[in-house]
Amino acid sequence: MRPVQGPVANEDGEIVAAEDDQRRQDLNPAQAEVLEALGARPHERPAFDPRLRQDLRQRLEARLGPAAERVPKGEVLWVSKHLLSTVHGCEGLFLARDAEPFAWTPSSARGSVAHKAIELAVSWRGDPAPGLLVDEALARLVEVPGSLGEYLGQLGEGERAELHAEATERVSMFQECFPPLEPRWRPVPESRLRADLCDDRIVLGGKVDLTVGRADGTRAGKVLIDLKTGAFSPHHIDDLRFYALVETLRLGVPPRLLATYYLDGGRLQPEVVTEALLDVTVERVVQGVTAALELRGADRPPVLRPGPPCRWCPASAECEPGRRWVAHQDEADGWIATVGEDDDA
Ligand code: SF4
Repeated sequence: MRPVQGPVANEDGEIVAAEDDQRRQDLNPAQAEVLEALGARPHERPAFDPRLRQDLRQRLEARLGPAAERVPKGEVLWVSKHLLSTVHGCEGLFLARDAEPFAWTPSSARGSVAHKAIELAVSWRGDPAPGLLVDEALARLVEVPGSLGEYLGQLGEGERAELHAEATERVSMFQECFPPLEPRWRPVPESRLRADLCDDRIVLGGKVDLTVGRADGTRAGKVLIDLKTGAFSPHHIDDLRFYALVETLRLGVPPRLLATYYLDGGRLQPEVVTEALLDVTVERVVQGVTAALELRGADRPPVLRPGPPCRWCPASAECEPGRRWVAHQDEADGWIATVGEDDDA
């Protein structure tokens, strides 16, 4: 059997690969797999041109300059992974969401509570139970002034218990599937990134669920990790690529690896960062920002792209293409169900 090789830290706290280690013997196969996937030997960590940061910034600012002029003076366009994935999906949905006031839902609150609990888990000493971490996360979030604290504070006992159970499930999955994170790997939960562009009129930003490792000079070493529940979606890859671009604008050295981790399935989807990947992402950001400003300025009608989001899109009642898509899909599902029934009989 091939020896398991994964990240251990050298004396500088960098994540490097190593031969079998006593510590690994305590890991379950899912944890060992994560360890192996995230690790790299020093010679596997690429060095990048120190001019890359400036080059990316110049290209973005040259392309985004005309769009930035449209941002009202004194205002900032905050570009998040959500803005980009929505505007690159259905533009009608993008506008419909823009028009809706933000409101917490059980599902979005559950995600935030679970992320907070995982953040605590990374720095907590010992082996805290997932339920305890969720208790602590809830207690802290309720105290933070803002809409999430208010939302959590007004939950009834039943709603709170349900949210607690679902968040605990996520934290438990994380603890089961991830190897215990050693301080020398420099794990950072909820790591904030931002890049201010075009005289601070456009800000690219967000928060990475977890990072481990660090760059050494111009040699890449950091791994950006996004934790997901549910199934794979192509925009998960784009989300992390966006963060890789922002990290490069911030630091000058790209992350070494991007990894989406699917908690339900215990599956890691890794991607190595290259300059070509950053080039593609620059283009996606430019197109997304330009489209967002055109749509908000009502310069052109939105391009409708019917698909699964039509089922819960706020505009679905008035959107004919969306209604047609849902009806067609329901018909197809009914047909499949009928065939299934016949087969069973
Ligand atoms: S219903 Fe579908 S096609 Fe129409 S705006 Fe919403 S997501 Fe787009």
